[in-house]
Amino acid sequence: MAASSAGGGKPRAVVSGGAGFIGSHLCEALLNRGMRVLTLDNFITGSPANLKHLEGNPDFELRRQNVNEHIDVKGDVRYVLHFASPASPPQYDANPIHTLKVGTIGTMNMLGLAMAKNATFLLASTSEVYGDPLVHPQPESYWGNVNPIGPRGCYDEAKRCAEAFAMAYHRAHGVDTRIIRIFNTHGPRMQVSDGRAVPNFMAQALRGEPLTVYGDGTQTRSLCYVSDLIRGVLAVLDKADELPTNLGNPHEVTMIELAETIIRISGSKSRIEHRDLPVDDPRQRRPDITRARTLLGWEPQVGLEDGLQRTLEYFRTVV
Ligand code: NAD
Ligand code: UDP
Repeated sequence: MAASSAGGGKPRAVVSGGAGFIGSHLCEALLNRGMRVLTLDNFITGSPANLKHLEGNPDFELRRQNVNEHIDVKGDVRYVLHFASPASPPQYDANPIHTLKVGTIGTMNMLGLAMAKNATFLLASTSEVYGDPLVHPQPESYWGNVNPIGPRGCYDEAKRCAEAFAMAYHRAHGVDTRIIRIFNTHGPRMQVSDGRAVPNFMAQALRGEPLTVYGDGTQTRSLCYVSDLIRGVLAVLDKADELPTNLGNPHEVTMIELAETIIRISGSKSRIEHRDLPVDDPRQRRPDITRARTLLGWEPQVGLEDGLQRTLEYFRTVV
């Protein structure tokens, strides 16, 4: 892909995980803001195909790199955004050691890059730091309820460690850091086979297969459309301090409701079939977004059904 050169004074961002679902939208948004973007990705769960439309853009560069290894970037860097990590339960279950490394060593390497370049660092953390939450909805002040030795521990604890790393570099070295805690997000370029609820249900509905609801389906999630999330990421970069900010849509639904909605809007004849509930599957999840509202003036604008319609349009093109 085209290599970025001096760039005519445009600020430069380094994004890890840019070939993934959220990272690809972020790269686009940063370019639209008039930045140069270098993305580092080892394609473990992402694909260069997600960035095909940016090929030939002189301000964009894609480099195959595992950020768990030493990162060498020449030239100026204004922002370092760490989005690299497997993100779906089946994917981090299949790559537990890699997931731990990218949250810990990968985060340390990206922070080291930010420190060396005097850049602002942003960590893509997750609502998983709250584990199976005992406080509902979840404000940033809640410390969480995580099983460190369960199958989700490799992801949840890696992200908790990543947050600790960001705070340590901020306190010890004065690095300008940000932490966002992303709640379940969906949109175009989610991998069809990544195993999360939205891709599974959409692919199943479009193929006329049963929708696989785990457990009794009364567990809840709150789904944010990707364009809302990206606006939030940019607002955090511009306006937030080092403390974590929840980014998510407070509209909470059960997995049964989600499956039924996807069947209805896709016009599918699929039925719902129940499967075993995965170990440590959180019972409920809804962000308290008071901090994002008051500090950033941010809140989601895309309603659940509208967002699902947009994601479904994408899935129709790839399933
Ligand atoms: P994704 O799997 O689509 O994207 C992750 C990208 O990171 C992929 O392109 C992958 O190849 C890359 N990657 C992984 N390990 C790497 C490494 N060691 N070096 C370089 N690249 C590496 O996932 P996503 O849904 O786009 O998630 C992006 C980020 O947002 C992740 O950090 C995830 O934890 C976080 N997040 C996502 C959600 C969500 O709902 N999608 C929710 C909470 C947090
Ligand atoms: N889920 C489901 N059927 C599927 C995939 C997921 O019922 O085919 C459930 C899963 O058990 C969880 C919820 O949907 O309760 C959200 O799962 P996802 O993997 O999307 O996100 P996470 O658990 O990481 O929030």
